[in-house]
Amino acid sequence: MNKLQPIRIALPTGLQVGTVNVYLFTDPEPVLVDAGIKSAESWEALQTGLAQHGLTVLDLSRIIITHAHIDHFGQAGTIVAHSDADVWISDLGAPWLLTLDERWARRAAYYRDHFLPATGLPAVTREMIIAGLKSMADQRDPIPAQRIHTFRKDGTLQMGGSPWQVLHTPGHASMQTCFYQPQTRQLLSADMLLAITPVPIVESPPEGSVERMPALPKFMQSLDMIESLDIDLVLPGHGRPFHHHHEVIRRQRERIYKRKDECQRWIESGLITPADLLEKMYAHRPIQFRFAGLWMLMGYLDLLEAEGAVERKTIKGVWHYVPRA
Ligand SMILES: [Zn+2]
Repeated sequence: MNKLQPIRIALPTGLQVGTVNVYLFTDPEPVLVDAGIKSAESWEALQTGLAQHGLTVLDLSRIIITHAHIDHFGQAGTIVAHSDADVWISDLGAPWLLTLDERWARRAAYYRDHFLPATGLPAVTREMIIAGLKSMADQRDPIPAQRIHTFRKDGTLQMGGSPWQVLHTPGHASMQTCFYQPQTRQLLSADMLLAITPVPIVESPPEGSVERMPALPKFMQSLDMIESLDIDLVLPGHGRPFHHHHEVIRRQRERIYKRKDECQRWIESGLITPADLLEKMYAHRPIQFRFAGLWMLMGYLDLLEAEGAVERKTIKGVWHYVPRA
């Protein structure tokens, strides 16, 4: 194994996404990028993966988190409790690790009181979505504040004896960072660039605002930025590493535009609320996973709105996306 290339350890999540990758640098000190979800299976798999390289959890000196989603950081607190390792996350992501309960409560309240009612979805579906998200929030161990450190969202990190550039890549998550090594042309892409299109998660509005940040338009901008990098190997947060990032990006853009056009045609045919569009465009998805479709759909609507193809009107508390002449 090339010393400069981190070792991928795939950990089970129990979620629809399958496994999540954590990446291990062994020299000059053992560093882990991301930590997996908190579960007995994940803990077992992490220990097995480390043992294959003659290491235990006790040897880890740093855990570097790409973004504060449960499948990427849930187990960091468990590692910290069993070792002297410290946790590093970007200045944007740190508040999520420090005050996660409050942040999740705030997001759940936004979904319950503002976002989901405005989609026009029936109450039973709305409750199912909130219950599903709540059950995920528990799959983590808390991390003591004194063990959390931050790096700048445009800074540099030393890993495997090389400097990696931190890249802020909002879209899937507003606080997500990727790490890029220009000499070896590797990108630790987190959930920014995967073989499949990452879902742009609907987040609660930033402090002091009532309007949610459009996630898919942000994702498209981050995709442009990643496309412009000179990359040989992409080390993604899920799935196998891959080359040819231009090809992967081209296919994703094509698919996003195709689905967006489809969405526009349904709107022109008279289906103008998110609930009606979801029913039409994601009927093939089991109801408990349809929230991922809802995040994608909101993304297509955000793109159409940004392009000026539709206008959003709130009628009796429900968003209606009206075609513009
Ligand atoms: Zn993920």
